[in-house]
Amino acid sequence: MNPINTLLQHDIDHLLALDSAHVWHPYASMTTPPPVYPVISADGVYLQLADGTQLLDGMASWWCAIHGYNHPVLNQALNEQAAKMAHVMLGGITHPQAVALCKKLANITPAGLEKVFLCDSGSVAVEVAIKMAIQYWYSIGQPNKHRMLTLRSGYHGDTFAAMSVCDPVTGMHHMFQRVLPQQLFVPSPRSKFDQPLLEDDLLAMQQLLEQEQHSIAAVILEPIVQGAGGMKFYSADYLAGVRTLCDAYDVLLIADEIATGFGRSGKLFACEHAAISPDIMCVGKALTGGYMTLAATLTTERISDGICNGEAGVFMHGPTFMGNPLACAVANASIDLLLSQDWQANIIGMGQTLNDVLAPAREIPTVAEVRVLGGIGVVEMREPVDMAALQSNLIKRGIWVRPFGRLVYVMPPFIMTSTQLRELGEGVVAALRELAAQR
Ligand SMILES: *Cc1c(COP(=O)(O)O)cnc(C)c1O
Repeated sequence: MNPINTLLQHDIDHLLALDSAHVWHPYASMTTPPPVYPVISADGVYLQLADGTQLLDGMASWWCAIHGYNHPVLNQALNEQAAKMAHVMLGGITHPQAVALCKKLANITPAGLEKVFLCDSGSVAVEVAIKMAIQYWYSIGQPNKHRMLTLRSGYHGDTFAAMSVCDPVTGMHHMFQRVLPQQLFVPSPRSKFDQPLLEDDLLAMQQLLEQEQHSIAAVILEPIVQGAGGMKFYSADYLAGVRTLCDAYDVLLIADEIATGFGRSGKLFACEHAAISPDIMCVGKALTGGYMTLAATLTTERISDGICNGEAGVFMHGPTFMGNPLACAVANASIDLLLSQDWQANIIGMGQTLNDVLAPAREIPTVAEVRVLGGIGVVEMREPVDMAALQSNLIKRGIWVRPFGRLVYVMPPFIMTSTQLRELGEGVVAALRELAAQR
């Protein structure tokens, strides 16, 4: 990276003053703005701060930047597409990048998911999935099947329907109670990843399905990895059991693979751990390798036929920027790039390194549990972390990790070398040890 590409201190101060006056950050106060760090460029696995500091990126910008930053192949895809056509409406028009992407997604996702609806972001993909499920049942003459059944500790996005299936406590449902659709919740699975199903773990879901099957349109869940709602990894047997229950009670299964999709859990899609196909699946986040906002909702011919043979005859949704060619082009390039490598061996190696390097955190008295799956490493603390203190400690070590609640976790770009992964993990452990000693 170019070391001359930095800002003077007084320009940095000006930037931060304008930021705190005008830029509302995610889940942040505008009244007492939290510290933010100005990043002016990013390359490979490093973010460069305005003062020239390089940070090793443990977050892949919220699961997205799987190939790292400033990747020549993705840059080229974007530039070539920009020179042809940056955008065109998808209503009544098609274009090669959208066609290629939908075909590719149908090919690589679990069997049966053949119909692809492109949309703008993960939350919208979840809205679309929920609308598909409801419109399907309505269209085939069962309008009472409109509720969602979901797991506690889930996270599905921040728009209204998506929020209605997020964990009610962390999603602060009480504030939105008057307008949120009331959904059905069962406890988060207790059966851990790589372990068999614990007796009774599916009982609550079975009982609710037994009682409420005539009002339930779909079960919606994050397969195997519950992400932003708790970073929990659960048993493939549980997921397989949910599929069986959905079939038995004639309820659809929506798999939200927005965080897990494209290799992160060690399979291309987390549903593969249980060898199941959902009726509807959402992808997003890593879809474009972190370049553009894009997501997709996939479904089966049974669902698309049900909807399109029904009252409306069409699916009632159509985003303005649907199938944006720049986003589709970079998604096509990102998926091809992923599949051109031995990505699975790489993720397994990442998991082994993360396991090794995070293991010593178990001896820190403030740490409750350490767990790793695929390219995800989680240190769960006993108490919520002091985010500002931990983050400034990590930044001094040249590391970018953003904890939330009791969770300190990493999900680095897939291109991170094992030496860099060690540096990342050791830095996290050292920071947690130092903060524990200061208590
Ligand atoms: C991030 C996420 C979403 C929401 O995606 P956005 O692009 O932020 O709207 C939905 N579901 C899961 C599992 C996610 O991790």
